[in-house]
Amino acid sequence: MAVNIKEMKEKLAYSCNILANEGHWDNILGHVSVRIPGQNKILMKPHSFGFEEIRPQHIIVVDIETGKKVEGKHERHSEVFIHTEIMKARPDVNCVVHSHPPYATAFSALGQRLRPISHEGNIFHEGLPTFDYTTALIRTPELGVEVAKSLGKCRGLLMKNHGSTVVGESIEVTTLYAVFLEKAARIQLMATASGDPAWTSDEESVVKYEQIYTPHRLGSMWDYFVRRAKKMRKLS
Ligand SMILES: [Zn+2]
Repeated sequence: MAVNIKEMKEKLAYSCNILANEGHWDNILGHVSVRIPGQNKILMKPHSFGFEEIRPQHIIVVDIETGKKVEGKHERHSEVFIHTEIMKARPDVNCVVHSHPPYATAFSALGQRLRPISHEGNIFHEGLPTFDYTTALIRTPELGVEVAKSLGKCRGLLMKNHGSTVVGESIEVTTLYAVFLEKAARIQLMATASGDPAWTSDEESVVKYEQIYTPHRLGSMWDYFVRRAKKMRKLS
């Protein structure tokens, strides 16, 4: 299968724009990467730009083995090792979203398990570990390895006093799940601040996940978020 880099860059730019619009904006911080099929490289959002500003021409190329930038004029994020070490440890992962969304970050400090209180909580029924090896930036391959270890086989993890990292098989699914993790954390914070909430059972959680997050629905959800992102681009 031929690799269409142009299309991948367009999709990655939309992922960044969607994250900005849907609760993951944090100044110029936060990053998304996608694996280039058949190559030991990733496409990645560069440093110095907000998620909403990213267009295909900003995207840089990074070598997975070394974490070094091999293409692109813009600066690389220092936390590149979250991406490269997860890509090495998880061949099933093609996309990594790392960001500092406010509700997931607040939730990361509480040591609570994420419960399926709203629909979105069911996405993480296989577990959502908390990385607490350090709360500092992940600026070395060694720390990246620790993040990958903490992630295990899960779809994402909270990073204590830092943010969240979500992984997946495609840009579309990973971006959506990062957006939905933030919503799940927000709903749990609201519910626990107001009382002692009930949550969906483990068995029903799997059923709900399979009902709601089908490939067809996820495709429609992505298309909808892209339409919203296009409107926001026109307004800016
Ligand atoms: Zn970070």
